[in-house]
Amino acid sequence: MYFIVTKVDSRNFVLKGDIAYSKSQTKIQSFENSYLVCEKGKSAGVFPRLPAAFAGFPLIDYTGRLILPGLTDLHIHAPQFSFRSLGMDMELLSWLEKHAFPEEAKYRDAEYARRAYGLFVDHLKRGPNTRFCIFATLHVPATVILMDLLEESGLVSMAGKVNMDRNSPDILREANADASAAATREWLTALAGRNYKNTYPILTPRFIPSCSDDLMRALSGIQKQYALPLQSHLSENQREIAWVRELCPSSNFYGDAYAQFDLFGANTPTVMAHCVWSGNEELRLMRNRGVYIAHCPQSNLNISSGIAPARRFLDMGIPTGLGSDVAGGVHTSIFRAMTDAIGVSKLRQCLAAKDEAPITFEEAFWMGTLGGGSFFGKAGLPGNAGAAGSFDPGYEFDALVIDDADLAAPFRLSVEERLRRTVYLSDDRHIAAKYVRGKALFG
Ligand SMILES: [Zn+2]
Repeated sequence: MYFIVTKVDSRNFVLKGDIAYSKSQTKIQSFENSYLVCEKGKSAGVFPRLPAAFAGFPLIDYTGRLILPGLTDLHIHAPQFSFRSLGMDMELLSWLEKHAFPEEAKYRDAEYARRAYGLFVDHLKRGPNTRFCIFATLHVPATVILMDLLEESGLVSMAGKVNMDRNSPDILREANADASAAATREWLTALAGRNYKNTYPILTPRFIPSCSDDLMRALSGIQKQYALPLQSHLSENQREIAWVRELCPSSNFYGDAYAQFDLFGANTPTVMAHCVWSGNEELRLMRNRGVYIAHCPQSNLNISSGIAPARRFLDMGIPTGLGSDVAGGVHTSIFRAMTDAIGVSKLRQCLAAKDEAPITFEEAFWMGTLGGGSFFGKAGLPGNAGAAGSFDPGYEFDALVIDDADLAAPFRLSVEERLRRTVYLSDDRHIAAKYVRGKALFG
């Protein structure tokens, strides 16, 4: 006996439908016409028949629809959402000068920030991603506005005030290391009274070229004081790597320039975007210290960075998720990042590395769900915040209900084939309901 309802208020409920999620990096498991149980905001598992223990939970009947884990975007720039799709025929450093820096400078105006970030968060709310690691700008009030909006949305995010005190235009640079560190403390103090449930600060040095040694030292102190996770960029572009070699002559490789300040994994949960040109030494250090990679295939194409060796990331056992890197990437949907990851890996095999097998669908889906979602369990966030991206018992309950009726074929599609079709062909209009930490955002 169970109660069929259309909406639930509690975080104990059951969804019925066709369910698919990653069992492992190489295997997707699917369940036709089965039950997915949410208990206190966490998955209690998937069952072909509803166990008696959950019979009293309200049941929402999504028969005929697909139920998938929410997706994680491990790397996105909130202030760049406004100009996505512009300047897509440039490469990284000129694109930063022409588009990214002038637009980011506008966020010193809080009213502009409120308008722009409002559009950004509304857009994210409708899409398939439920979790995010987000770069804001160096401006404290605008970053707090962004985080307030994220918290109101019900999405789960880590967001960071950006640090940059050198090699940036006057309109977008902090005066010196002390000023940047003081602004970071001011930002963390402003957050202290806000009691966010789903929104967390993450330290965000933009990248080595824009952060002096003094600033990195100061951030290392702040990291230890507040036990914050950290996000940044790494080995995206060959010109950038040569520049880091000049700026940090004492470092053995780019990642070492972070490691020198104890800001590269181990006691600092870290996610680094790109790693297109990371060498073996850098990758081994990432594996040994559990540094996450946000693989951003679309951005790597758009701003001519190259094709990241994602096969090596996975085979070496480096924790890897996917990032949109808007506005280097145009599309926010991590479904799109999955298809791009597969596509560029085939190009890499053809053009650069014959011995690196392309990324499979199973691997791409895993990276976009559990691969990235696990960072939320590893980041040492307050309140025992846990990992998402799986429906195995104990994972935080982020789920998408997909109405894929208009993606039908003249032959019968299995649940797994419908999943593949959804990843390649769906858009926000196919999302019939979206749950984050056991709470319905809509549907
Ligand atoms: Zn980026």
